[in-house]
Amino acid sequence: AMTPFEYVRPDDVAGAVTMVSTDLGASYLAGGTTQLDLMKDGVLAPERLVDISRLPLRGITRRDDTLWVGALTTMEELAADPTVAERVYFVREALLLGASTQLRNMATIGGNLLQRTRCRYFRDPTGMMCNKRTPGSGCAALTGVARMHAILGASEQCIAVHASDLCVPLVALDAVVHIQGVGGQRSVPLTEFYVLPRDRPDIENVLEHGELITQVEIPLLPIGARSGYLKVRDRASYEFALTSAAAALLIEDGTITKARLALGGVGTIPWRAREAEAILNGAAVSDETFRAAAEVALRDPFTVSGTVFKVELAKRTIVRIMQTLSGSRS
Ligand code: FAD
Ligand code: SF4
Repeated sequence: AMTPFEYVRPDDVAGAVTMVSTDLGASYLAGGTTQLDLMKDGVLAPERLVDISRLPLRGITRRDDTLWVGALTTMEELAADPTVAERVYFVREALLLGASTQLRNMATIGGNLLQRTRCRYFRDPTGMMCNKRTPGSGCAALTGVARMHAILGASEQCIAVHASDLCVPLVALDAVVHIQGVGGQRSVPLTEFYVLPRDRPDIENVLEHGELITQVEIPLLPIGARSGYLKVRDRASYEFALTSAAAALLIEDGTITKARLALGGVGTIPWRAREAEAILNGAAVSDETFRAAAEVALRDPFTVSGTVFKVELAKRTIVRIMQTLSGSRS
């Protein structure tokens, strides 16, 4: 049963931002696919829900080589956009490999960036210790059931994975988050938006209470680049990633002239693999290159018994997407 709460629907962005910023008990509601589950489960109990779903932040605009995506655009709308299909194909793939059509018609892009972890201990407030839900209480996943957990950016404090598929190609692309607060607007690169758990797993990103995501700016890939999203999971559909890789390659005469690579299912934040990119850039298309990049990307994992298998699986995921994109394996 949910704790009673007040529901309000402001008419404009400024009104919404003021309502949440001035009230620590208030929370935004967009498509509700994450927020309402967490309230039903008793993980969150806001006193006031501020419905932003009808604010004018929905739609996609192209300006030169950039897409501007309103935070209330649905996952299904972004996946259907022709420029996305043509110039950042892996964004479309990541979206369509997530959730279900019904959910994607409700779920917004802003909400996707801010979805909470699927860690079962976080989502069960009657249960065990969880530093993310109750700071300082410990982490039940360390010795519990941890198959879907993180191996990069993880520590004894928290091994929860950031479960978004969409964010994986978005960090690879250097997408930028635009934010409205009571004091004005600011923008933050998505690669700097998420915060590693370290000793405060309850803090997940740089947003202040009440700051609203208004738009996400997505740079398009150069014409001729190939991109792909490979998602490895236990079931063929309707399941979060065990590991995933989002990659974009520009190849000229058998040489990789520009590589972008990010990993999902393995990081406490959507994981940009910059050291692997450095190995790929300027290297010849070959399995040796791909394997070297994969080794570097997974060089320093933090594992528990349930997640050890992910180290090799993630490496193979990287090699496989590289082979597919470069045409060295069909
Ligand atoms: P809400 O639930 O309304 O909000 C989520 C959070 O974000 C809340 O804290 C809310 O306050 C905050 N918020 C929302 N919008 C803004 C904004 N503009 N500014 C500031 N704060 C905001 N995702 C994947 O990537 N891959 C999957 O495979 C996948 N599978 C799923 C399967 C199921 C069964 C479910 C329930 C979800 C799945 N998801 C998956 C997650 C889904 O994509 C998110 O739940 C959804 O995108 C959240 O969007 P929403 O509009 O419903 O957000
Ligand atoms: Fe909580 Fe993180 Fe541990 Fe899960 S992994 S129980 S979210 S502290």
